[in-house]
Amino acid sequence: MKRIGVFTSGGDAPGMNAGIRAVVRTAAGLGVEVVGIRRGYAGMIEGEFVPLGPRDVANIIQRGGTILLTARSKAFLSEEGRAKAAEKLAEAGIQGLVAVGGDGTFRGAERLIEEHRIPVVGIPGTIDNDLYGTDYTIGFDTAVNTALDAIDRIRDTAASHERVFFIEVMGRFAGFIALEVGIAGGAEVIALPEVPVSPQEIADTITESFKKGKRSSIIVVAEGAYPGGAQALFKAVHGLTGFEARVTVLGHIQRGGSPTAKDRVLASRLGAAATRTLIEGTSGVMIGEVEGEITLTPLHDAVSKKKPINLELVDLARSLAG
Ligand code: ADP
Repeated sequence: MKRIGVFTSGGDAPGMNAGIRAVVRTAAGLGVEVVGIRRGYAGMIEGEFVPLGPRDVANIIQRGGTILLTARSKAFLSEEGRAKAAEKLAEAGIQGLVAVGGDGTFRGAERLIEEHRIPVVGIPGTIDNDLYGTDYTIGFDTAVNTALDAIDRIRDTAASHERVFFIEVMGRFAGFIALEVGIAGGAEVIALPEVPVSPQEIADTITESFKKGKRSSIIVVAEGAYPGGAQALFKAVHGLTGFEARVTVLGHIQRGGSPTAKDRVLASRLGAAATRTLIEGTSGVMIGEVEGEITLTPLHDAVSKKKPINLELVDLARSLAG
C-alpha cells in the first residue's frame, strides 16, 4: 500500500485526534502516505480529501472533537452513494482506510469492503463504550470524568439543601457511562437500560435512606433507562410519593473536552495498531484492547455482538449505596 485514508464518523469523541495523529505518524514511519477524509462518509462521497503529513497532526493530541470533522450521511446508506465514495477513493489513489467511529461507521465499512473490495480497519471511537471486542472505547474515560465532575458539583448543592437530584447521563442503549459515574459519584440509585429500576424501587430506596438519616440523594439515570429519561422517571416517583427533587440533564457537555491521559494512550495505541494491521494486508476488523492486549475482532462481531454490562459492578453499587 502506498496511500491510505483516515476518517472520523458518527458521534465525535475525545481522543479521536490522538487516533488520527497515531495513524498519520505510524504510516509515515512505514513509508505510506495518509489522506484525511473530512466529514466522514459524507466527505468521502464529495471527495473532501486533505493530505496529512506528520507535521499536520502536531498539537492536536490534547484537543477534543475531531480535526477531520464528522457527519452522518444518508447518501452513504444507498448503494449509489457508496459507489460514488469508492470512485472518489480510487481517483485519489487511496488503497485502504482506517475508520474511527462507532457501530454505524463499522456497518458502513462492512458494505464498502463487500461491495468495492476496499480494505478497512476500524478503531472504536465513541463515548458510549458499547462495542464488543474492546474493554474501552476512545472517549469513554473522558466522558465519565466530565460527568463525574458535574455530579460532584451537584452533590455539594444536594447536600447543602438536603435535596434529591436525578441526573441524566448519556446512554440510550447502554449503561456503561451511568454505571461508572454512578459508582464513582456515590449514587444512591443507578438506572441502566440493561438493569432498569422501577419508580417504586426508587421511591422505596429514598424512603429507606430518609429513615436512615440521609437527607440528600443522587440518582444517576442513563437516557435509555426509562421512557422519557430522568425527567419522566422523576415524575413517576413524585406521583407515587410526592417527593420533591431536581432533575439535571447533562447532555452534550459529556461529549467534548480535552481527552484524559487514558483516552490519549488508548487512541494512540489503537491508531498505530490499526495502521500496521491495514498496511500488512488485513481488512474487516476492529482493533481493540482487551485486558491490556491489542486484539482484532471481525467488524461484524463488533457491531452485532452485545458487550455485557459488568453485573458485579451493579451489585457493588447497590451494596455501597446504604
Ligand atoms: P456511529 O458510528 O457513532 O454509530 P452512526 O450510527 O451515525 O454513528 O453512523 C455513521 C454513519 O455510518 C451514518 O451516517 C451512515 O452514513 C453510515 N452507516 C450507518 N449504518 C450503516 C449501514 N447499515 N450501511 C451503510 N452505512 C451505514
